[in-house]
Amino acid sequence: MKKYMNHLIAFLVFLSSGIALEAQEENRPFTFITGNAAITLLPEGQQRADTGRLSGVTDEMIAECLPDGGTYNSAVNAFMIEYEDETVLVDAGFGRNLFAHLEACDKKPEDIQTILMTHLHGDHIGGLLREGRKSFPNATLYISRAEHDYWTSDEAMQRVAENRRGGFVQARNVIEAYGENLRLFTPGSVEKPGDDLLPGIKAVEAYGHTPGHTAFLLENDGSRLLIWGDLTHAVSVQTAYPQVGYVADTDPVQSAESRRRLFKYAADNGNILIAGMHIEYPGMGEVKGTDRGNYAFSLLCPCEGIPR
Ligand SMILES: [Zn+2]
Repeated sequence: MKKYMNHLIAFLVFLSSGIALEAQEENRPFTFITGNAAITLLPEGQQRADTGRLSGVTDEMIAECLPDGGTYNSAVNAFMIEYEDETVLVDAGFGRNLFAHLEACDKKPEDIQTILMTHLHGDHIGGLLREGRKSFPNATLYISRAEHDYWTSDEAMQRVAENRRGGFVQARNVIEAYGENLRLFTPGSVEKPGDDLLPGIKAVEAYGHTPGHTAFLLENDGSRLLIWGDLTHAVSVQTAYPQVGYVADTDPVQSAESRRRLFKYAADNGNILIAGMHIEYPGMGEVKGTDRGNYAFSLLCPCEGIPR
């Protein structure tokens, strides 16, 4: 508990300062305490994304969910979880701001013991290598078996357009660089989570965006955190209409099914903190059911956490 006293003091100083967050704060690390764990957003950047990137979306859905019209708020995020003696990174973003953010949190790359990967797209694995070498020399890298098998399959690589094959090369470089520090696992499901991957952390399948896309569930001191990776890209549209996909989804039907199951789990169980890799600052929030039988996402107020 002692190690979170600094967070608590920083939080109290922040509250008493009464200063509203400035826009640039959105690209700084941000920590939220849940149970005895600290989860830190490590943002690579915020963006307004075009609804043309969504699939199966109608003008009516856009008008209802996005009052500003043709764009939605998005971001590229990685997260760090600190609990007990563990320091865990979940995804590694592009690697643009990641190392400066870790430094701002008093972490060196050597301090990261474990990296959990939701999937192996470039905006999630970019920080894993620097000049072709692994950036986290002491870390064990966890990748779901289905995800690993997809990116190392020559057949899968041949099936995609030539201009998308670079993603396979990038994923293979990561797999090779981490070599014996790579751990493959088979996730459970939200309905039946299976054994812990790390103390208190279970992997749950959220397949569809990629063949092995995985979410991570942390249960700690009675509180629950679900890091759902790329389950959503336009969270307000996709919680209201889980059938709306993203152009990069490898299997849009499966990805919609994963959204329905994880949204239901989060809404039915209540009080589950959600963290997403493309959710705007501060990258976290909560899912609730609605009277209409779908879901709604509410963003965590930055006032509830600690800017770093
Ligand atoms: Zn992504």
